[in-house]
Amino acid sequence: MRVRGLHKSYGELEVLRGIDLDVVAGEVVCLIGPSGSGKSTLLRCLNLLETPQAGSISVDGFTVTDPDLDVDAMRRRVGMVFQQFNLFPHLSVLENCTMAQVKVLKRPAAEARRVALANLRRVGLSEKADQRPAQLSGGQQQRVAIARALSVDPDLMLFDEPTSALDPETVGDVLSIMRGLAADGMTMLVVTHEMSFARDVADRVVFMDGGVVVEQGPAREVIGSPQHQRTRTFLSRVL
Ligand code: ATP
Ligand code: MG
Repeated sequence: MRVRGLHKSYGELEVLRGIDLDVVAGEVVCLIGPSGSGKSTLLRCLNLLETPQAGSISVDGFTVTDPDLDVDAMRRRVGMVFQQFNLFPHLSVLENCTMAQVKVLKRPAAEARRVALANLRRVGLSEKADQRPAQLSGGQQQRVAIARALSVDPDLMLFDEPTSALDPETVGDVLSIMRGLAADGMTMLVVTHEMSFARDVADRVVFMDGGVVVEQGPAREVIGSPQHQRTRTFLSRVL
């Protein structure tokens, strides 16, 4: 994925002020930065949940900001996992994982079911396939959300603080699934405050503040010896 000169404003408020960012295939990038710095807005632009005013985003040859873009074709390449899970409450766990496959990819129901069950197995929840989201713990719901995102075979997975709404005892389960995805070569852009995850798993850490990328580099360098005062101030609060 390649992002150049991305700008996004809400009225007078300029939230993204010229973001350049690359994520290459197989890379795990952690995006860190203070509250309000524009991290979620950036992810939402990458997944077309928001329309940027300027700049370009391309994923696998698709230019997201091209007015002729086939939005569905693009969206099926990008999986997104949110802080609040966003599962469909009235659907079973299995149906949550088959819906986009049938609606967006036009997969036959039997194949969608097979793919969904394989992904539920991958997150350790195949026995919960027939339950409703409300019957699961927060950590289990987030694992379903990961299985759902994986079920459309995305080339890139976006995670927006996937563990910050979880009870401390379930955070580890979700992080270990994400570590597994990274080890399997999934391309991932992860907004997180879990600095030990960033240090251990990320190939690169990007620090954002005030709608711009302030600093980026290998995880150990950015977290271990940040070059910018703003990065140091932020890390001193979260570490
Ligand atoms: P956090 O760490 O708290 O999640 P963030 O870095 O994800 O913060 P964003 O959610 O991207 O920050 O918000 C950046 C700024 O944009 C904030 O000032 C926020 O109030 C504003 N903002 C976000 N979404 C909207 C919206 N839909 N309308 C107006 N302002 C918005
Ligand atoms: Mg956010």
